[in-house]
Amino acid sequence: MRSLILSDLHGNWEALEAVLARADGTFDRVVCCGDLVGYGADPNRVTAWVRANVAEVVRGNHDRACSGMDDLSWFNPIAREAAEWTLRALDSENLAYLRALPRGPIDAGGLTLAHGSPVDEDEYVATVEEARMIEGHLPAPRCFFGHTHLQGGFEYRRGSVVRPHFALHRPARLHRESWYLVNPGSTGQPRDGDWRAAYALYDEEGDELTLERTEYDVEGAQRKIREAGLPELLALRLETGA
Ligand code: ZN
Repeated sequence: MRSLILSDLHGNWEALEAVLARADGTFDRVVCCGDLVGYGADPNRVTAWVRANVAEVVRGNHDRACSGMDDLSWFNPIAREAAEWTLRALDSENLAYLRALPRGPIDAGGLTLAHGSPVDEDEYVATVEEARMIEGHLPAPRCFFGHTHLQGGFEYRRGSVVRPHFALHRPARLHRESWYLVNPGSTGQPRDGDWRAAYALYDEEGDELTLERTEYDVEGAQRKIREAGLPELLALRLETGA
């Protein structure tokens, strides 16, 4: 089974479309680590696509916030404004779908999906120290997560945690005896200094992981954000990936 792993789509249809075009023919199924909506101007189109095409999805904090399940007072003002806009924009079917998404981690057959840390869906795992703190709490040896919008992963091997280097576009065979916690990166709002849409491919049979990036119509996504009246910063940050 070859999985296309998506995370943090954030209502960015242009980015999702480019990923699907680029990944075409390289996967058997799609799985998602959450945050389908929030920030971007196409929450309905992205959610409808996920509903129709993705069997295994965990909810993200923005999926909760944008479907009215959370108190928004702990969000920063820009995220809150986007969440309120998204809640107004979502149609009833997409809203119901987002509200029913399961909390991670979930077993997706051959791999596990979480949004934040496997311990807490709202927790960020960005550093080796943070990854070390949850050693012993990973539910399975091949775990994928999102939330940080940073592409890359952590390898748990013989009592130590390291950050393996995965070259882009090149399949890397994982170590059988190691456990991995891997972020495919954000498709819709990368924050690791690379504006290109991120995703990952995992081939269960060969135990091979490939991290990918693809260019997309960032100007199209920005235009829609501006036309929707969403905060300008949300348009600007797409072109820097910061
Ligand atoms: Zn996110």
